[in-house]
Amino acid sequence: MAGGWAKDGAEQEQIESTLDDAVQRARRQLPRGESLAECEECGEPIPEARRKAMPGVRLCVACQSELDKKQSAFSGYNRRGSKDSQLR
Ligand SMILES: [Zn+2]
Repeated sequence: MAGGWAKDGAEQEQIESTLDDAVQRARRQLPRGESLAECEECGEPIPEARRKAMPGVRLCVACQSELDKKQSAFSGYNRRGSKDSQLR
C-alpha cells in the first residue's frame, strides 16, 4: 500500500496543528473553571474584578506577571512570534 505512509504523515501533521491551535486558543481565552479567591502562589486575595475578567484565574496580578515572563521566555526560545504580543 503506497498510500499508507503518506497518509500517516498527513495525519500527524494535522494532529499537531490542531493541538497547536487549541493551545493558542486556550492561552488567549484562559482556562475556564473555578477562580480562586486567593492567589495559589502567595495567598494574596485576588480582586473580584480580576476573577470576573479572567474566569479560572489562580494567581494574583504580581504572580501572574511573573509567570507570564517565564512563559514568554520559554516560548520565545522556540518560536518568537506574534503570539505573545496578542496576549496583552
Ligand atoms: Zn500571588
